Amino acid sequence: FHVPPANNEPVKSYAPGTPEREEVLLTYKDLYNKNVDVPLYIGSEEIRTKKTATMHPPHDHKHNLGVYHLAEKKHIEKAIDVALEARKKWAKLEWEQRAAVFLKAADLISGPYRYKLNAATMIGQSKNIYQAEIDSACEIADFLRFNVEYMSEIYNDQPESDETAWNRVEHRPLEGFVYAVTPFNFTAIAGNLPSAPALMGNVAIWKPSDSQVFSAEILMQVFKEAGVPDGVINMVMGDPAMITDVILKSPDFAGIHYTGSTEVFKDIWAKIGNNIHTYKTYPRIVGETGGKDFIIAHPSANPKEVSTAISRGAFEYQGQKCSAASRIYLPKSLWPQIKEELIEDISSFKMGSPEDMSNFINAVIHERSFDKLAKYIDQAKKDKKAEIIIGGNYDKSVGYFVEPTVIVTTDPHYTTMETELFGPVVTIYVYEDEKWEETLVEVDNTSAYALTGAVFSKDRYAAAQATDMLQNSAGNFYINDKCTGAVVGRQPFGGARASGTNDKAGSKLNLQRWVSQRLIKETF
Ligand code: GLU
Repeated sequence: FHVPPANNEPVKSYAPGTPEREEVLLTYKDLYNKNVDVPLYIGSEEIRTKKTATMHPPHDHKHNLGVYHLAEKKHIEKAIDVALEARKKWAKLEWEQRAAVFLKAADLISGPYRYKLNAATMIGQSKNIYQAEIDSACEIADFLRFNVEYMSEIYNDQPESDETAWNRVEHRPLEGFVYAVTPFNFTAIAGNLPSAPALMGNVAIWKPSDSQVFSAEILMQVFKEAGVPDGVINMVMGDPAMITDVILKSPDFAGIHYTGSTEVFKDIWAKIGNNIHTYKTYPRIVGETGGKDFIIAHPSANPKEVSTAISRGAFEYQGQKCSAASRIYLPKSLWPQIKEELIEDISSFKMGSPEDMSNFINAVIHERSFDKLAKYIDQAKKDKKAEIIIGGNYDKSVGYFVEPTVIVTTDPHYTTMETELFGPVVTIYVYEDEKWEETLVEVDNTSAYALTGAVFSKDRYAAAQATDMLQNSAGNFYINDKCTGAVVGRQPFGGARASGTNDKAGSKLNLQRWVSQRLIKETF
């Protein structure tokens, strides 16, 4: 059961003058005008249907990137049949063979496909090169390599035996197929959600987000080139409600691996409940959903560290990480200094297309998101309880650009302290220093979510108190660090409450969800 040791893929710098910077820019230019035509990938077939949707870069929405094809009901039914057929061989394959395929995929991603995947993520999802590199090059490769290591740990985990009985456990793939529903914000999540169940011997039907199809297709090509057999991972696009309906009606539906909105996840869960009598097996439900992630600083915290955590944690990738800091609690004594640092830092952020690598801020994903953010910003401009101290402008004439915006509120329950906005808008509440404990209670009570959170404190007792009082408020809790940027193999990621089932992405626990154990007791 020895596998190659997993190491985190080193992050390239893309500093001016480096070969990687030049390479990725060339690839970017090439992909920008390629006018792609993305089919459904079902088994060995690339299916082009009668209906298509067009793709546009969020930072340049008049530009056409090409089209992707939309499935009809019959295509989803076909995908299910093809996946189940492929399962017959895949589920029986030796685990080393499956591991080798995904280790090969990791090498393709960190090697020959690195710039293509990064450039596609920059273009299609409007991500700057650094954020693309840690996502679509490093994190996916890490997921694949670490999952192989976790898989071997799972297979190694055997019960005790003695002279009279030999006890052994088989970790069998689920009986049926897995539905992988992936978000726009991380190409790595799109790669992990279908591949983790597939590594464990399952077959998957993968529905990427409409806003991520441009890079999803490249991932699909990587899987094929790595040797994932036809039908093991199938990629379909189309009306999400129709696709989900067809899938959840199948008696062979055996599990869902989901990242996306809380609302959709709850709706899927309810539908699974309604169909429960039709399934052969209880489906595994694994989901990571929304967040309203916090940072709280104690009066003993270092103001500079807090300000950096806010400006990075709230505005990397335009605040479109589930882990992004969006509600902040600061003590009055530190506020003047943090405010000054924050304004200085955020004023230095340039905004524009990711093609210009000096832009830290790019566009938000689509018009719906832009309009929602604009609405909340306008409301804050009018509201007596809120003040915008930096940002507050937006413009969708070329791309969906929203300035990094900081709202300060006098009400800890102000709407933007509670509502998930999923964009570059952060809200700060300043508390009286002596109300530290009451504020911790406030942090815990304000949100239904529990994904990430951070406390900044030099006082060890205060840090311990926050850790204890906020034990249910975040699945990933950071002491003296920002609440984004979990690294596979180091900070397994996921939250509870309305944020998900907390089956940590990139962990042994997650992989265990994709197998069903058979215990064999043999006596002599
Ligand atoms: N793992 C990412 C992080 O720690 C967030 C993933 C997500 O947005 O779902 O920032």
